[in-house]
Amino acid sequence: MADFSSLLKTDAYIGGQWRPALTGRTFVVSDPATEKVLAEVADCGIEDAEAAVAAADDAFQIWRQETAHSRGEKLKLWADLISQNIEALAALLTAEQGKPLAEARVEIKGSVDSVLWAAAECRRAFGDVIPPFKTGTRILIMREPIGVVAAITPWNFPVGMIARKVAPALAAGCTVVLKPAEDTPLCALALAMLAEQAGIPSGAFNVVTCSGAAAPEVGKVLTTHTLVRKISFTGSTEVGKILMRQGADTIKRISLELGGNAPFIVFASADLEAAVDGAIACKFRNAGQTCVCANRIFVEDSIYEDFMARLAVKVKALVMGKGSDDKTQIGPLINEDGLRKVEEHVANALAKGARLLCGGKRQDGTLFYEPTLLGEMSRDMVLFTDETFGPVAGVFRFSSESEVIELANDTRFGLASYFYSKDLAQCFRVAAALEYGMVAINEPILANAAIPFGGMKESGLGREGSVEGFGEFLETKYVLLGGLA
Ligand code: ADP
Repeated sequence: MADFSSLLKTDAYIGGQWRPALTGRTFVVSDPATEKVLAEVADCGIEDAEAAVAAADDAFQIWRQETAHSRGEKLKLWADLISQNIEALAALLTAEQGKPLAEARVEIKGSVDSVLWAAAECRRAFGDVIPPFKTGTRILIMREPIGVVAAITPWNFPVGMIARKVAPALAAGCTVVLKPAEDTPLCALALAMLAEQAGIPSGAFNVVTCSGAAAPEVGKVLTTHTLVRKISFTGSTEVGKILMRQGADTIKRISLELGGNAPFIVFASADLEAAVDGAIACKFRNAGQTCVCANRIFVEDSIYEDFMARLAVKVKALVMGKGSDDKTQIGPLINEDGLRKVEEHVANALAKGARLLCGGKRQDGTLFYEPTLLGEMSRDMVLFTDETFGPVAGVFRFSSESEVIELANDTRFGLASYFYSKDLAQCFRVAAALEYGMVAINEPILANAAIPFGGMKESGLGREGSVEGFGEFLETKYVLLGGLA
C-alpha cells in the first residue's frame, strides 16, 4: 500500500490557514481494520465554524468575480492533482474508512470525473432572454452563485461525497465550509490541501473537522448563520430532518441526500447469472455501506431456489479482510454502532423465521462482519423497513409483478431501485411504477458524474451531479430593463 504521509493533515483549514481548533481539543481517527490510531485531528467548535463562515463570505466576494474560465482551470488542476495522488489518497481512504483499495481507487476516479464535470459545466451557467411583455423593455435572466455553502458529508464515500458537493459549488462561484464525518476527516483535509495547491483561493474551501460530540453545535452554526445561503447534506434521514428544521428560520436553500432502502427485484425473465452477479456488486460493495445498496432483494417464486443456490456460492466466496490486502472484497464496518445495527437486523430476521445460508456473525473482537445471506425474509422484519448498511443480503419471495411493486414501494424512502428483466414491456411498466429517484434495469451500479443522483420521499431533496446538481448552487435573477423605446 502506498505511503500517504505526504497527504496527512490534522489541522482544520480555515481562511487558507492550517490551524488547530480554537477549542484546543483534538479527536482520534482510527483504522477500522485494526482499530489503531491513525491521527488526532482538530476538534472544532462554534467559534471555528463561525470563523470559517466569515472566511467563506470574504472569499465569496473575490471568487465569484473570477471568470468561469479561470474557475474551471483551477478545478481542472485540482482534478489533475487528485489523479496524480491517487495511490496515496486511496491508501489514506482505505486506512480511515476500511474499503478495499480497488474500491477506493474507483471512488477517487469517479471523484476526479465529478470535478472535471463541474469544471466544464461552469462555463455553461447560461442565462436567458425572454420576449418582453411591454414595449421598450428587455427581460434578462441571470444565473448567479448562491453564496456561502455549508456542506456536511458522511464517512462511506469520504472523497466522492465531497467532490460531488464542493466541485459544483466552487464551479458556480460559491464558496464552501465543509464539515466532514468524524470517522473520515483525513481525506477531506487531503482534498483541501490539493485544492490549495491547485490555486483555489484562501477561504473559498474551508474544512471544519470535529468529533461526533461537537457535530451538533458546529452543524447548528452552519445551518443557522445568516451568511450561509445553502446547505448540502448527505447522511441519515434523521439528521437531515434536524438540519432542515434548523435552516428553516433563515430560509436556506437545501439539498439532502438521505437514507435509502433499495429494492433489488429479479423477475423470472431475467438473465439469472447476471442478476446474481448484480446482486453481489450492488449489495456487497463497500461492505454494504452505501445508501444505494440493495437492501431488500425480491426474487420471483419460480426462480427463487435456483437464484439462492447460485447467490450462496458467490457470497461464500467473498474474501473478507483488510482493505489494504489486494485479495480483499469485504472490509470492516466503520464502527461499533454500525456493526451493532447489522447484528440487530440479523438477529431480528432469524427470530422471525429467516433462513441463514451463510455468515451471520462478527469476527470476534473486530469490526468485521461475515458476508451473510438470509432467505425466506418477510415484511415484518426490521430489515424490510430500515437500511442495514452492512454485508447482509436478505432475500424475499414474490409471485406477481403487482405484488412486488407494492412491496418495493412500501417504504418511506425512495432513493435507488434495481430490477432484472428481459421483458421490455415489463421494464417500462416497472420503471414507471417504482417510486424512486433512480431506477437501474439489468445494471447494479448507477452513480456517475453525468447523472442526477437523488431521491424521492424521505430520501431527500434536490439532485447531485449532472446539470441539475450544478443548478443547485445557482440562484435565478430576473432583470427587467426599461426605457429602451
Ligand atoms: P451516519 O449514520 O451515516 O453516520 P449521520 O447522518 O449521523 O450518518 O452523519 C452524517 C454527517 O452528519 C456526519 O458528518 C455527521 O458528523 C453529521 N452530523 C450528525 N449529527 C449532526 C448534527 N446534529 N448536526 C450537524 N451534523 C451532524
